[in-house]
This record gives sequence, C-alpha cells and structure tokens, in this order.
Amino acid sequence: MTEPLLKVTNLKKSFPIHGGLLGRQVGEVKAVNDISFFINKGETLGLVGESGCGKSTTGRMLLRLLEPTEGQIFFEGQDLTKLSNSDMRKMRKEIQMVFQDPFASLNPRHTVEKILEEPLIVHGVKDKAARKKRVKELLETVGLNSYHGKRYPHQFSGGQRQRIGIARALAVHPKLIVADEPVSALDVSIQAQVLNLMQDLQKEFGLTYLFIAHDLGVVRHISDRVGVMYLGHIVELADSETLYESPKHPYTEALLSAVPIPDVDYQKERIILQGDVPSPANPPAGCPFHARCPKVMEQCASIRPEFKEVEPGHYAACHLYE
Ligand code: SF4
Repeated sequence: MTEPLLKVTNLKKSFPIHGGLLGRQVGEVKAVNDISFFINKGETLGLVGESGCGKSTTGRMLLRLLEPTEGQIFFEGQDLTKLSNSDMRKMRKEIQMVFQDPFASLNPRHTVEKILEEPLIVHGVKDKAARKKRVKELLETVGLNSYHGKRYPHQFSGGQRQRIGIARALAVHPKLIVADEPVSALDVSIQAQVLNLMQDLQKEFGLTYLFIAHDLGVVRHISDRVGVMYLGHIVELADSETLYESPKHPYTEALLSAVPIPDVDYQKERIILQGDVPSPANPPAGCPFHARCPKVMEQCASIRPEFKEVEPGHYAACHLYE
C-alpha cells in the first residue's frame, strides 16, 4: 500500500489560560486532544463538528499557522513539526489554505492581480511576465475573467471572492489544500457552485483536500471519507457512504438526525441532545460525550473509550463497540 500524502499522529493543541493578579497560568484549554488520521493522495477528507470542537485548530496546525503542543504531522513522509520556520515557509508551497471568510482574508487595498501575484513572489517566481501569465491563467481556472484582476475585493460578490481565495491557494501548484469552512458564509445556491468548482479543480490538478465544515450535509458530496470531531477528539471516521448510512457513534447519529439529507435511508427521528458542549478547559472524565449521550452506560463516565476500528475502515470511540 502506498504511503498517505498526509498522516497525523497523536496531535494535540492546548492553549494556556492565564489568571490572577500576576497573570500566571491557571489552566489550559485542550482544543485538540490526541487525534490521528491520514489523507491519501487525491482524496478528500471531511472534518465535521460543532464550533469549538477543534476542527479549525487542526487545519491550522497542518500548516503550522498554530504550533502543535504534541504529536506528528507527516507530509510525504516528512515530519512537519520538526521543520525550521524557514523550511516550513517553503513547505507552504505544497500545502495551502482556503479560509471561511474570503473578505477578511483578502487585502482590501490590493487589486486581485496583486493578491494573486503575492504568493508567486513569496515562492520565488522572479519573472514578472511569467507572474502576469499565471495570474490570468488562475482567474480563468476559477471561472473569472482577466479584467477582474484590476478590481478590488469589495467589488465582488461572496461567491466570487471565494473563487479568488481558491485561485490564490492554487497559485503555487499545491498538493494539499486545507479548506476551512470555505462555503459556510455563502448562500446555499452559491455553495453548490463553489463546491462543484472545488471538485472540478481536484480532478484537473489531482488535488488532495482536508475539507472542514460544521454541517454534515455540506461535506457529504465532496468527501471520500468523513471524520466527526467532538470536544477536541475524533469520535468517528469512515468512508462517506458508510458514515451517512450506518453511523456508529451516538454523536454522529444525533448530528445526522438534524440534517435533512435526501436519499439516505438513515433519516430517522430527530435526536435532540441535552445540555451544552462541555468546556474544553474542563473536559469531563471518561467519554467526552457522556453528559449528553442518549445511550450512556455506567462505564462511560469514568473510562475513556478508545478510538478504534470497529469494522474495516470504520473507526469509532464508543463503549458500545467493545
Ligand atoms: Fe455514549 Fe458511552 Fe458511547 Fe460515549 S462511550 S458515546 S457516552 S455510549
């Protein structure tokens, strides 16, 4: 079997909490708490969960925009956590990010041409004519016209701005794109266009995606496999069809019951979860989901379930499968 393009092992990220008069560290928020997964070349892995579950933190750690507290990130076999800052900057040619809010991530004072030229300059394309040619090519690739290059971000609609964000990510021919809620801020009709564009680009350029979303409905059509996060943990991971048709983890079942998904037999009665997501600064003992789980058992409050393969290629962290 070939090596995955990306392999993450035991990744953790904690943020210190400071308090008191002296501002000493009084605790920590465990935003990502020991997660492992891989993405094969050309594949899309969807990562889903409610806000604050650690999915965006995970995405940012892959580019080391946030430094991991522990764990390894192997990209083409090389551990990114061991790279110097300057080597990591070079590595970002291979791994690019598309952000949720294209407006906030595009410099409002720069023309689109300048925005798209910037990554080319950063990654050493010295010839101005070559940069101009690439910018024109990028605009066409994402369905915009070359005259759009002279305009500023505020002159575009949300969907067009996200096309610019995607063009910028593609500028230096990356292999992996981390897309952090790329369609969440867009109208539903525009969402489909941007998702289709991303799928077309994936086929054309052999791209690999980590696609982060809070909505299981959004990731279904674009993902080959889907991981579900809860309170810093991946609680279930399986190929897309299996996860949607026969989820194992009670949290995934609850999420799925809330999403109207056509053509899925699973659509059953809505499961209303009680209580709020616990604070990652004070995570519960045992299963992180036990305070809200409709299937909670005695051991769930004290013993953390292991994340393990419960069927071939289907992973879950739940005592129901032990
Ligand atoms: Fe529910 Fe227990 Fe499974 Fe956690 S381990 S999801 S509390 S049944």
